[in-house]
Amino acid sequence: MKVVTAPDKLGGLIDAVPKQLLLGGTWCDAASGATFDVVDPATGDRLASLADAGTVDARAALDAAIAAQDAWGRTAPEDRAAILHRAFDIMTARTDELAAVMTLEMGKPLGDARGEVAYAAKFFRWFAEEAVRISGTHRMAPSGRNHILTVREPVGPSLLITPWNFPLAMGTRKIGPAIAAGCTMILKPAAQTPLSTMTLGAILLEAGLPAGVLSILPTSNPGAVVEPLLRSGGIRKMSFTGSTAVGRLLLEQAADAVVRTSMELGGNAPFIVFDDADLEVAVTAAVDAKMRNMGEACTAANRMFVHETIVEPFVARFTERMAALPVGNGLAEGTAVGPLIDQAAIDKVQRLVDGAVADGATVRIGGSRLPGIGHFYPPTVLTDVSPASEINGTEIFGPVASIQSFRDEEDVLRRANDTEWGLVGYVITTDLARATRVSGRLQVGMVGLNTGVVSDVAAPFGGVKQSGLGREGGHLGIDEYLSYKYLSIPASAPVPIGGLS
Ligand code: NAP
Repeated sequence: MKVVTAPDKLGGLIDAVPKQLLLGGTWCDAASGATFDVVDPATGDRLASLADAGTVDARAALDAAIAAQDAWGRTAPEDRAAILHRAFDIMTARTDELAAVMTLEMGKPLGDARGEVAYAAKFFRWFAEEAVRISGTHRMAPSGRNHILTVREPVGPSLLITPWNFPLAMGTRKIGPAIAAGCTMILKPAAQTPLSTMTLGAILLEAGLPAGVLSILPTSNPGAVVEPLLRSGGIRKMSFTGSTAVGRLLLEQAADAVVRTSMELGGNAPFIVFDDADLEVAVTAAVDAKMRNMGEACTAANRMFVHETIVEPFVARFTERMAALPVGNGLAEGTAVGPLIDQAAIDKVQRLVDGAVADGATVRIGGSRLPGIGHFYPPTVLTDVSPASEINGTEIFGPVASIQSFRDEEDVLRRANDTEWGLVGYVITTDLARATRVSGRLQVGMVGLNTGVVSDVAAPFGGVKQSGLGREGGHLGIDEYLSYKYLSIPASAPVPIGGLS
């Protein structure tokens, strides 16, 4: 395994990141004066202290969102689209800076971070294009007595909550459609990675987003900010991306005021390699699906099922590719595997690996955390993993591939669907009939067919079962921020059939 060392810290970049709350268009300290620290997972160094929002600040953000909603909702779609286009341009021009900030706070390699900036910016361009195509419908009532016109309106002040693993893209996937639809927003970023979001806030103001339309509330106490907002009656929409456990809690809190919700939750993706697969395609897809973001992705291949007749050649090639991935500080060019987010993540991964080994799994490569500073875990391949091991029943969220073999299609489908989650599944086969059959029977919201990557701004992203509600991105993404209003309009009186004779 190659280990890449850290270059000099890019301290100047962090100096330029706003450290205060964005409240109704103004940067300000928390009402309590409190701050909290953000640390670099590669070194443990403190990167910045940020204003720490509490309940009072949440109320102020809500007042701003409610005050701005009516006028913002009645702005011209082309004006909102223009703001999104400008934000896309600024993000694109500042890719390197945004990527470095993201790598510093989250750990992902610079190449991945640049890829995320591009992906994140494209949500703004996509929803700029959607903003000017919001459509309604017209039907003539069967009685002939009235027109039934449906128009779509912004749902209203929206609470957006994002996770740490994709600090920019999970934000723009919500902000883009909310702006396009004409909703005001309160954004609560993850406490471990707020710096990317704060920079994004400054970019949106520079792009011309009016004061009051967006507030950003970094906080070390999410419950103190989110729960009062959800129960206030002023929030009309919550869009949450994060774990299923927190998602369940927020659904309960949202029930009080009947808040409309979009929930992008956890996954437990099956990755199935059939005996007719092209082995190179299978290995490349497996590395992509497992190692993107160091395995810290909801779409990560969590359970790999390989047909028993090809499991050995697959494992040999896959292990070779995993072993060649350089581990190190994400800021160093050439790094493919950065640090995990924190000590708890390392501890969880180690517990899952140790449990699998105790249940009979074989470690082909890796298997124990790297010594020294930072939360580094090496690419790890486990084979002969028992279906009963804990590692198959929870998100690994680390660079560990858990491989089982299977004999027949029916059996692998049963095992793949034997989970409460249903975000994505991967199917590797050259048989079209099998591809169609298996894709149809997988209980998931998305299928990667002979590919390990499904994310695309133009595609509806989301899951079934306990992986979530609603879709983000694609043509469906804006629907989550719009409500239907039906207008009944009298028509000229219909002529009775009898009146024709
Ligand atoms: P998480 O712990 O559920 O946190 C997500 C967000 O919720 C963070 O902003 C977090 O704030 C906040 N939060 C936590 N507890 C809260 C509470 N009691 N009240 C209100 N807000 C609360 O998830 P994570 O660890 O950040 O992210 C990883 C998870 O997200 C994984 O399960 C992954 O699969 C999922 N994910 C899903 C998708 C998708 O599109 N389906 C995409 C990416 C990630 P703090 O940061 O302060 O804890």
